[in-house]
Amino acid sequence: MREFHIYNTIKRKKEVFESIHPGIAGIYVCGPTVYGDAHLGHARPGVTYDVLVRLLRKIGYKVRYVRNITDVGHLENDSDAGEDKIAKKARLEQLEPMEIVQHYTLRYHEAMRLMNTLPPDIEPRASGHIIEQISLVEKILKNGFAYESNGSVYFDVDEYSKRYNYGALSGRSIDDMISNTRNLDGQSDKKSSYDFALWKKAAPEHIMRWPSPWSEGFPGWHLECSAMSSKYLGDTFDIHGGGMDLLFPHHECELAQNTASRGDSGVKYWMHNNMITINGQKMGKSLGNFITLEELFTGSHKILEQPYSPMTIRFFILQAHYRSTLDFSNEALQAAEKGLKRLLLAALELTKIKTSSVAERIPGLEVVKDSVYEALCDDLNTPVAIAQLFEAVRIVNSVKDKGALLNTEDLAILSELLNDLSRDVLGLKDDKADSANVDILAGVVEMVLEMRRDAKMNRDFATSDLIRQKLTDLGIQIKDTKEGTDWNLN
Ligand code: ZN
Repeated sequence: MREFHIYNTIKRKKEVFESIHPGIAGIYVCGPTVYGDAHLGHARPGVTYDVLVRLLRKIGYKVRYVRNITDVGHLENDSDAGEDKIAKKARLEQLEPMEIVQHYTLRYHEAMRLMNTLPPDIEPRASGHIIEQISLVEKILKNGFAYESNGSVYFDVDEYSKRYNYGALSGRSIDDMISNTRNLDGQSDKKSSYDFALWKKAAPEHIMRWPSPWSEGFPGWHLECSAMSSKYLGDTFDIHGGGMDLLFPHHECELAQNTASRGDSGVKYWMHNNMITINGQKMGKSLGNFITLEELFTGSHKILEQPYSPMTIRFFILQAHYRSTLDFSNEALQAAEKGLKRLLLAALELTKIKTSSVAERIPGLEVVKDSVYEALCDDLNTPVAIAQLFEAVRIVNSVKDKGALLNTEDLAILSELLNDLSRDVLGLKDDKADSANVDILAGVVEMVLEMRRDAKMNRDFATSDLIRQKLTDLGIQIKDTKEGTDWNLN
C-alpha cells in the first residue's frame, strides 16, 4: 500500500494519511443543497473527491465515501434568518418541498453521472436524520455550550471560546466575526450576533417542521453534517471535504459542534477545493456568468462559444491543483478539449501496437509511472500527474510513428498509465463511448430488420415472425408502417 499525503488545513503541513476507522478510510463530503440545477460550483468538488476516492481505493485503502444531500435547514444567505432555500423554491413553483428535493437530486445525480463521478457509498439526507440532530443538540446543551431562547437553540460561541478555539479552522478571530455579522431579523434571540442556530423554532408559515423538546421547528444547517458524519463514519474519521466557500461558517461551526458534543473535532484532515472563476470573475447569478452544467454540455449559455463535453470539463478541472483557483474561459476549455483528445487517442493507439517479449525496453518508463503515483499521493497533485501522463502519450506516439515493436512489459506499464491511472483513477474516458454503443445497436437492429424484410418478400413468414418475437423479447418494439418498419426501445 502506498501512503497518501494530505495538506492539513489546520496544521498547515503535510502528514501521512492513515485510516483510524478500523480498516476503512472514512470520507465525508458536503453535498449540494438541492434547490437548483447543478452548476460549475458542484462540478469541482464532485470531481476532486471522486478522484480522491478512486485513488485511495487504487492504492489499497478501503473507503467509505459519504456525501450528504441538504434538503432542509439551509436558509438564505447561509445565515440563521430568512427563508429555507428549498421551501422558498417550493413556494415559488407551487410544489411540495420534497418534490423540489427529488427533482433536483435526480438532476444532480445525472450531471454527476455524466461527469463520470462514482456515486457515494452513503448519501444521507438531512430530513432523514432529525432524531440524530435533536440528540446532538441535547448533548451540546448538556455540556453547557448552547442555550435555548424562545423555542430556538443557539450555539454559545463565547462559552465555547473559554475552552476551545472558535476560528481554528478558518483562522478567523471573534473580532472579525463581530464586524462581519449583519443584523438580521431573528437575531434578537441570540446572546451574540456570531452565535449560530442549532435548532430554529418554525415561523407559522414555515412548511418543513418537526417536533422537538424546544419547539416545532427545524435543525440549523451546520448540524446535519456533524450528526450524519459521526453516525456513518464514527466519532473520528479521516477526511472531511467540501468547497472553500464552506470553510466558514459551515465547517467552522461543524467543528465547534463536534468538539462541544464530544470534546474533539472528530476530523483528522479537512480538505477544501478552491473556487472557480469565469473569465477572471467570481461566478454569480447577478454577474450574468452563472453557468449550469447542462448549459456547458449543450453550449446554451451566452458566454459559451460552443458546447463542452462533461469529460472536457472533468479534464480541465483536473489540470489545476484542487487548492488553486480555476478560471474558466472558452480558450482554456478548448485547449483542454484538445489535450484530452490526445490522451484518449494514445490509449486507443496503444491497443493497436504490436508487442514482443524480446523488443527493446523503453528507458525511464517505470519512473514515469512512479511519478504519476507520487504526484497523486502528494495531496492529489493532478496537474503534475497529467503532465507525466503526457510523457506516456509521447512514448506511444513515437513507437507508433516508428512502427516499432513494443516490449510486453512496457505495454503493461503504458497500459497502467493510460488505462488504470488515466481512465480508472482520474476517471477520464471517451464521452462518446455510450453514444457509440447506441450507434452499434441501431446498426444491428437495422440489419436484422432488413433480414426480416427479405424473409417476408420470400413469403417466409415463420422467420419474419420469429425475428419480431426475438426482438420483442429483447425489449425492442417493432411496428410495420406503409413507409417500412419503425423500431423503438421498450
Ligand atoms: Zn456540510
